[in-house]
Amino acid sequence: MGPLAFLREARRRRALERSPIPEDLWDWALREHRIFRTLSPEDAVRLRELSTVFLAEKEFRPLPGAVLEDRTRVSIAAQACLPLLGLDMDWYSDWTTVLVTPREYEVTRRDVDEAGVVTEYDDELAGEVLHLGPVVLSLEDVEDSGWGDGYNVVIHEMAHKLDGRDGSFDGRPPLHRDMDGEAWRRAFTEAYEDLRAKVARAPLRRSRRRAPRIDPYAAESPDEFFAVACEYFFEKPALLRSEYPEVYAQLALFFRRDPVTA
Ligand SMILES: [Zn+2]
Repeated sequence: MGPLAFLREARRRRALERSPIPEDLWDWALREHRIFRTLSPEDAVRLRELSTVFLAEKEFRPLPGAVLEDRTRVSIAAQACLPLLGLDMDWYSDWTTVLVTPREYEVTRRDVDEAGVVTEYDDELAGEVLHLGPVVLSLEDVEDSGWGDGYNVVIHEMAHKLDGRDGSFDGRPPLHRDMDGEAWRRAFTEAYEDLRAKVARAPLRRSRRRAPRIDPYAAESPDEFFAVACEYFFEKPALLRSEYPEVYAQLALFFRRDPVTA
C-alpha cells in the first residue's frame, strides 16, 4: 500500500469510528428501500460502512429549491454504495460532488453534425454525470428510486461513473482481470440490438417510469443500455435475468454478486 492509499485508509477508519450513520437513521434506510430488504445481515453491515465512507468523502451540494435532509443523504449514499458491495470505494475515487436538484431539470444541448450544422434542443434529465465532474441527481427521482420496480436514478448515474472510469462512456467499465472482454461485448451488443429492434416496433413511451419490461430509454445508446441494465440488476434482477441472461451473467461477474439468488 502506498502512502496515499495508507492515508485514505486511515481516514476511512476514522470516519467509521467517529461518525457512523446513526442506528435509527440506518434502520429507516433499510426498511424504507425495498431493494435492501433482501440483503443478508453481513451485506447490510458492509453497506452501512460503505455508506458512512461515502458520506465522509463526497460533498453534497443542494441547488436552490432542493432541501437535503439527513434521510435523503443516507438514502443517496446507501443506493450509491449498493453496487460497491462486491467492489470497493476506490471505484468512486475520481469524483467528489453530488449536486442535488429539486426535480427533473431542463438542459440545452448542442449538437454539431458532420456538416457543421449546430442543433440546440431542450432535454429533460433526472440525473447526469460529467466526466471527472459531479453527479447530478433530482430529488424527485431519488424518491422514486429503491422501490424494486426497475427505476433507480442513483444506481443509473453511478453506473455511468463506473463506465467512465477508463475515460470513455461506452457501456463498458474497466473489467476485472478474470473477465472475458469478448463475452462482455457479445452479451451487451446482442441485447442492445434486440432492445433497439423491440423499441423500433413499439412506439417509444415518453415516461421512463411506466415503461414495459426493460425501459426503452436503454435503447438510446450502449452507455445508457449499461446504466439501465445496472438499475434492473439491483432493482429487479429476476426480470433482467429472464430478458437478457448473458447481460445478467456479465454484470454478476463485474459486481461480484448474484442478486437473484442472494
Ligand atoms: Zn444515463
